[in-house]
Amino acid sequence: MTSGNRFRIEERGPAQVALIGVIDENADLTTLPAMAQRGMLQLDLGGVTFINSLGVRDWIRLQAAAQAARVSLELCNVAEPIIHQLNMIIATRGTAKVTSFFAPYACDNCGREDSLIVDAVAHAATLARGQAPAMVCKECGAAMAFNDFPERYLAFLQRD
Ligand SMILES: [Zn+2]
Repeated sequence: MTSGNRFRIEERGPAQVALIGVIDENADLTTLPAMAQRGMLQLDLGGVTFINSLGVRDWIRLQAAAQAARVSLELCNVAEPIIHQLNMIIATRGTAKVTSFFAPYACDNCGREDSLIVDAVAHAATLARGQAPAMVCKECGAAMAFNDFPERYLAFLQRD
């Protein structure tokens, strides 16, 4: 494993931290709830490259610890590996609010595949209908298609 994959927590501002690298048994998430301010903590998950089963266990513990401490977690730029866990294991969602996330798109015109950031707040109405917002291809300007099953990939946004 290269040092680039090593897990680290970077403070980005008051109550704003970024999680970077692999979330596994070496990733310590227990310090996070204490970094909240006024009951809020924003986690930027754009730099998470992988999460294994032990990382998922610690992630669920983080959700429980945050709820016990009355800390609201806001997840932004949620990377695709985390989205897959949120979809498979309900407990990983906790009460965290996802404000933006990465999603796979593909261009039928030029073949480009991209992981694009979806603003879950701006596109709330579209997403609530189980639809992926339209995206434009950076390569050729054509409309990109969602490159997964929306009802499966967007399942984590459903409450109850
Ligand atoms: Zn294209």
